[in-house]
This record gives sequence, structure tokens and C-alpha cells, in this order.
Amino acid sequence: MGSAEPVAEVPLPGAVPRFELSQWSERYGLSAGITGRGAEPGRGFDLGLWTDAPVGAVMGRWRELRASLPGADSMVLGNQVHGTEVMTVGAGRGWTYVEGIDGWVTTSPGTFLAVTLADCVPVYLAVPARGIALLHAGWRGTAAGILETGLERLLQATGSVPADAVMHCGVGICGPCYEVGPEVMSGCRLPQEGPGPWHLDLRDHLADQAAGLGVGIITTSTWCSAHDSERFYSHRRSRGADGRMVAYLGMPRQR
Ligand SMILES: [Zn+2]
Repeated sequence: MGSAEPVAEVPLPGAVPRFELSQWSERYGLSAGITGRGAEPGRGFDLGLWTDAPVGAVMGRWRELRASLPGADSMVLGNQVHGTEVMTVGAGRGWTYVEGIDGWVTTSPGTFLAVTLADCVPVYLAVPARGIALLHAGWRGTAAGILETGLERLLQATGSVPADAVMHCGVGICGPCYEVGPEVMSGCRLPQEGPGPWHLDLRDHLADQAAGLGVGIITTSTWCSAHDSERFYSHRRSRGADGRMVAYLGMPRQR
């Protein structure tokens, strides 16, 4: 435990409410971040494509997001299923959408990876200057090994070793806000001390997994989607009524 350095994404000014991992842009030239709720009342800057939100308005916001990201030629997204399917994508234009994908890898500048979330953890992985991966990690995907799969694909694609990789666990639900039952603890192979329910810090758990896999640098967001709900969406806190955020990661194409 405690292998990860805490890092806060920084809120950016502008019409698109987003928070950027400035450390990654400064050190590695990567564009990494997540959208927030924004100032609009109600659902705000909801990017959920599979909720009851009007699709036209949601796609409009996706277009605004892409337009706000310099050097983003294309964006890939999937209908996530809390699985471990990771897809490697190349250069493209516009939008790529694939069913059943929870993680993405690319070595192509300009191809931006995206996952939608409201409490699950966006896992950003990079081998600087060579390639990137972005994973959607809830407890099911984490227990099933999406981190190991995603890292392996990234290392294959870039011809690298784990120590070359950097990882950030982004905005997700924190341990004190995430009360879980025995199925989650046993799924994640964690000890069930006392009568329960238990609290799981999914990001700490992912950071431990990453340290075990030999990832070179590991950081964790200090934001929580649930108790920082003025800024972010939380499925748990809203009892399913909230919108969705988009985490993104790209190697901006130099124009
Ligand atoms: Zn919290």
C-alpha cells in the first residue's frame, strides 16, 4: 500500500469543464484529463451515451470536448462492459466506436482514447514518446485483470518493459465513499476483516497491482467523484441518476 504519489488534476478555464493532468503534459507532452460536471444546472456537461440523456445534446458536447483538445484528429470510445477487452487502434479521422471495449492502446499521435465514467477509475498508462493506454476500471474489471492486460498490450505495442511505463489512477470514488459487500472483496482477493460491509479504495488497489507488475512511476488523483460531487459525477452518490464524465488521453499531433 501507499506506493502512489498523490496528484490533483487541474481545472482548466473555458466552455468545456475539464481537469488536466498537467504533470503529464509538462513531463511527457501528453494530453491527459477528465471532464467535469460544469456550471450548467441539472445534468450539466453530461457525456453519457447510454443513459436517458438526449443523444443530440450529448454528441454536441462530445464534439465540443474534441474541439477543445489541441492535436486530436480522432477519438475512440466504446460501450464499456466492465470486462477486460483492450483494443489497439491506429491513426484515424473523426470517431471510432466499438462495442464491448474497456481499454484502448495506441502509438499514433492524434488518436485520442476515451472512456466514460461516474465512480469507476480511469487508468492512464504511458510509455513516454512511444505509446499510451487508457482503461476503464471498476471493481469487476480490476478483479478480472484489466490492468495487467492493458499494460501487456501497451508494452507489446511499444517494445518496452514495465519500468518504462508510467501510470495515473484518475478521478474515481475514494475508499471512505465506496462501501462494498463480500462479493467485491472476494472478487478482488482482499481479506474480509470484521463483519462488513467494507470500504475499498480501488485506486490504492490498482496502484498495488501496478507496483507488483513493475510499473515505473505510479500516481493517484486526490479528487473523489462522490465527495467532490459539485465537480464530478457519481453513480453511487446519485443512486444512478447522474451523468457521465469522459477521461481522455492522447499524444497531440503537432500541427
Ligand atoms: Zn470520496
